[in-house]
Amino acid sequence: MTHTPTRSDFDQYMVPNYSPQKTIPVRGEGSRLWDQEGREYIDFAGGIAVNALGHCHPVLVNALKAQADKLWHLSNVYTNEPALELARTLVERTFADKVFLCSSGGEANEAALKLARRWAYNTHGEHKDKIISFRQSFHGRTFFTVSVGGQPKYAQGFGPVPGGIIHAEFNDLEAVRELMGDDTCAVMVEPMQGEGGILPADPEFLQGLRALCDEHDALLIFDEVQTGVGRSGTLFAYMQYGVTPDILSSAKSLGGGFPVGAMLTTDRIAPAMAIGTHGSTYGGNALASAVALAAVEHIDTPEVLEGVKRRHDLFREHLETINRKHGVFKEIRGMGLLIGAEMADEYEGRAKDILPLAIDEGLMALVAGPNVLRMAPSLVIPEADIAEGMARLERAIARLVASE
Ligand SMILES: *Cc1c(COP(=O)(O)O)cnc(C)c1O
Repeated sequence: MTHTPTRSDFDQYMVPNYSPQKTIPVRGEGSRLWDQEGREYIDFAGGIAVNALGHCHPVLVNALKAQADKLWHLSNVYTNEPALELARTLVERTFADKVFLCSSGGEANEAALKLARRWAYNTHGEHKDKIISFRQSFHGRTFFTVSVGGQPKYAQGFGPVPGGIIHAEFNDLEAVRELMGDDTCAVMVEPMQGEGGILPADPEFLQGLRALCDEHDALLIFDEVQTGVGRSGTLFAYMQYGVTPDILSSAKSLGGGFPVGAMLTTDRIAPAMAIGTHGSTYGGNALASAVALAAVEHIDTPEVLEGVKRRHDLFREHLETINRKHGVFKEIRGMGLLIGAEMADEYEGRAKDILPLAIDEGLMALVAGPNVLRMAPSLVIPEADIAEGMARLERAIARLVASE
């Protein structure tokens, strides 16, 4: 490489749908990253809840390297050992009986929605096509998933949206009860809204959705793309709610940084996805499956999951300490290592202003909407990195307060 890429190359060569920070990280290890200038950062962003074991975790690096020397890709004309092992592992550790593998969260949700529609069509007929989802929800960027998602701005300007989709207020069971009917095909919900602002569902809400779906023979779909694979403190968040979905989507942490997604379902529903109904060239890719298998086996252990709960408490304590000094947050909430701090009224809409200040101080963080500072670090982030990251965050927040 004779040319050293710079941030201005982004504006020159990439379509302008993103606006990345000025710094370009070139190397990562655990929860630390280094940029082109050798500046070091602590990573509370985790690639948006993807790098569940931090950067270059030896378990994942070894799984990738071992598989890289054996077999990368076959297509679905053949199956392969890593894909079969990943599917068996997910079935053995969850409610599911059957798995569809793909490469992203949006694809996992696309598969979930198509499966629900086809199942309803096969078992009840054409009229049963209504999908209920929630305002502020996020389910991906394919055209079906932005339409089901509850942020209209993501679907606007792309032509006619698919029909049969209704949005209700999150955590409002009565609103859903009024919308439910025998034409309801499925209810799709995030057990905790991620992009929408780190909003956990009330247990009674999810229990109520389960009961309504049973009553109307509709399918309950949990989008656990962001909450899944240890992020919430259990393998999947549904396990803490004690509410079992009919279909569940997973991605993000599932590959720990390698692109992979999965849709899980039961023997009652899976047959609707008969030969030829759906597919994906990369779905079940051997490299992706080998990495995901290693990630799930490593994360779904008492050591890692207990560690998530301990770190959750630490994050909360640090944020509360910062808030006692600076009074910038109204509420600190979340599950496991998906944590949101909602800005106080005086700082309404200013969450994103913290990000460049944090980068200046050597910390990567996230927002979830305009008003929530979001953190989704590695599930195994060392406690020393939490303390140092919080010291940097406090300096960034002190600068925000001083700039008032
Ligand atoms: C990120 C996310 C998606 C989309 O996943 P992609 O891999 O970007 O397609 C879907 N649902 C939720 C809840 C997410 O957080």
